[in-house]
Parts: sequence; C-alpha cells; structure tokens
Amino acid sequence: MKNIGFLLNYESIKEDFPLLKKVNVVYLDNAATSQKPKQVIESIKRFYEESNANIHRGLYDLSTKATELYEQAHEEVAKFIDAYSWEEVIFTRNTTEALNIIALALAQSIIKPGTEIIVTIMEHHSNLLPWFNVAKFCGAKVKIISITNDGLLNVKELEESISEKTRVIAITHVSNVLGVINDLRSIAKLAHSVDALVVVDGAQSVPHIPVSIRNLGIDFLAFSGHKMLAPTGIGVLWGRKDLLEDLPPVLRGGDMIKSVRLNRIYGDIDVVYNDLPWKFEAGTPNIAGGIGLMEAIKYLKRIGMENVERHEKTLTKYALERLIEELNEHINIIGPTDYRKRSGIISFNIKGYNPFSVAVKLSLDNIAVRAGFHCAQPLHQFLGYNEGSVRASFYIYNGPEDIDKLIESLKELVIKP
Ligand code: PMP
Repeated sequence: MKNIGFLLNYESIKEDFPLLKKVNVVYLDNAATSQKPKQVIESIKRFYEESNANIHRGLYDLSTKATELYEQAHEEVAKFIDAYSWEEVIFTRNTTEALNIIALALAQSIIKPGTEIIVTIMEHHSNLLPWFNVAKFCGAKVKIISITNDGLLNVKELEESISEKTRVIAITHVSNVLGVINDLRSIAKLAHSVDALVVVDGAQSVPHIPVSIRNLGIDFLAFSGHKMLAPTGIGVLWGRKDLLEDLPPVLRGGDMIKSVRLNRIYGDIDVVYNDLPWKFEAGTPNIAGGIGLMEAIKYLKRIGMENVERHEKTLTKYALERLIEELNEHINIIGPTDYRKRSGIISFNIKGYNPFSVAVKLSLDNIAVRAGFHCAQPLHQFLGYNEGSVRASFYIYNGPEDIDKLIESLKELVIKP
C-alpha cells in the first residue's frame, strides 16, 4: 500500500479490542462511542473481583482500597488534561451531565437578569439546551454565533457579539458534525477581556487530540469517558479551583457535605459542604467507571495523544481526498475540505439519497456509521440539511482499508455501471 502519511500500528491496536476481533464490522461510529480495549474491561472486572466497596465510608481495607483507586482515577484525569490539581476534576455520568451541572451552578451565581450567554450554532444539544434553560429562569439572553461558508466559526460575529453583559461563552472544542477545531485560546482571551467565563464541550476533543487546559486558558471543560475507550456512565467536569470553590453544588445528598444540622425550629438546615471535588459528586458515584476511565487514559498515554492526533489526521486527509475525487458530484461534504482544519469526523450527504438509506446500505456492507442530526439539529437546519447527514468518524483502530471499504460501498450506491 502506498505511503499516505503517519499511521499508528492500528492492526496490533485492534488486537486489544475483543469486540472488533469478534464481529465483522468496519467501525466508523467513534464520535458516538468508542470500542473498549481488554485492559479497560479487565480493570473493571478486577475492581469488582478484588476491591469492591463503597468509597469514603468504610474504615476497613476494601473501602480504603476502593477510595484510593477512585481518587487515583481523578489524578490520572487531572494529569491527562494538564489540570493544576485532582480536586478540580469532578466525575459525572457524561458530557451532558457535566454541562448541565455547570450551567445550573452558574445560574445560581453569575447569570443574572439582563446578562448574556454566548453559544454557537455548531453546538451539540447538550451545550445548547442547558443554556437556554438557565437563561429562561434567570432572565438572561442567549446569543448564537453562526459559521462561515467554509464551516468555520464566525469569529468576527463572536467579536461583535461579546460585551460587558456576556457572562459565559459555551462552545465546543471540536464540532461533532463539522469536525472543525475551534481556537479556544483566542476565544478565552476575548471572553476574559470582559470577565466572561468559557465553558468548553470537550466530548470530541479530549479523546482525539492533546488537550491542556492551561494552554487553552479556559474555565470549565466537559467530556465523556465512553468516547475515549472507557465504559459508559463516567464523564468529567473540570473547572478552575477558585471558581468551583465559590460555586454552589447542584446535586445534593450523601458525600457532598461535611456536616448537616437541623436548626432549633427545624425550619431550616445548616450545611457545610465537602471539599472539592466531592462537593459536586453527590451520592455513590460510578466507582468502577472511574477506574475504567483511568485505565483508558493509561492506554491512550502509552500510544501518545500526539500520535492519536496524527493518525486521525492522516485518515481524515486520505478519506477527504478520496471522497472528493471519487464521489465528486455525488457528495456534499459538510464543513471544511481542508483536513488541517478538522479532526477525524466527516459528515456528508449523498445527493438524492436520504442519510438513513445511505447508512442502511453501508450497514449491509458491515460498515457502521451514524445517520441523522447527531444531536445537532439547529446546525443541520442552518445548513439546509433538513434530513440530517451521514457521519463517519475514526479512531486508533481504524486504518485506510476501512476508508477504502466505505468509499467502495458508497460508489456502489451512486455510480451505476
Ligand atoms: N457534545 C458533543 C460534541 C458530542 O459529540 C456528544 C456526544 N455525541 C455530547 C456532547 C454528549 O455526550 P454524552 O452523550 O456522552 O453526554
């Protein structure tokens, strides 16, 4: 095969993924969720077989062991995103929960009547709905920034929209439809010039490119474990410690308090909140999920996030070039066609075909992609794709052969002999 650029040893990586070895599928639905390597699956099994107990509650060995592992998982996450301390890392169920928590916490503090929240048209519903919700009950306004004709964020519009009233800019790092990578560093500078906070949806960046919250200069970051080799049901909200310390908790109950006292007339309750991150982790958390996430991060670190990024860039370049050349007038690619501006996500439509029928044809050829709005319906509406799109997304176990199969299958659909 001709040299198409840097690639990981994806064939040997694939050997670590029991499901990919077992079923005959070209798995190109990684933006929805990734497959899990045996190291992660075994770490969860090991936890239940060797250390299962509730955390922070028992003084016996098993509980101490479970607590240590769960805290180590926070540390591993903190190092992975270059956070200052593990106390800034809050475990949630997923990105959606993390974004809802931060929106609701900010709604109880800095979002006031007359203030403004800026979002973009390329957001996933998870980074749109919570902001519209809090804006409504706080009497704030949501401003939506559009994209340019080449599918990039309209930075000029953002610069013009930001003002002293802006309290929050909620923006995705990488769009799950366009694949574009937003320049968070300059957006954070802009936001901080008016004392606004930057909340980032990292669901499609943290699994795929090196992310340093220090370099980006952002204030909050949300992401999901299940898109980065970890199990479902574990996600992360990272936040600046000084901000988290001042914010009220959103979920209330066990483990998030130091003390609770009913006052004399029993009409009120005095609560001293727990230290970070526990103040934001009410109730028994997903301990096994946290441990699975730690193992997933170790796996990604052994490969190196720079290498993950380079591998996906090579695949994206290869796929874009072939799709444009060989499907030509039959395909509409959504987002920029310059691979350097995007990560390993390619959404498209085949002219004359509903995205679902394209996905069914691909499925008949054992190729797994996604069809629909990918939880970004306003973006599809904005672009005039009222039936949605087809999305192929890559990860560390995909190789050029997978793209060849995708292209052959699409060609069979449109290019009649
Ligand atoms: N944001 C983006 C950009 C996503 O791609 C996704 C997953 N499709 C989410 C948020 C939501 O992730 P989760 O379902 O894990 O909460």
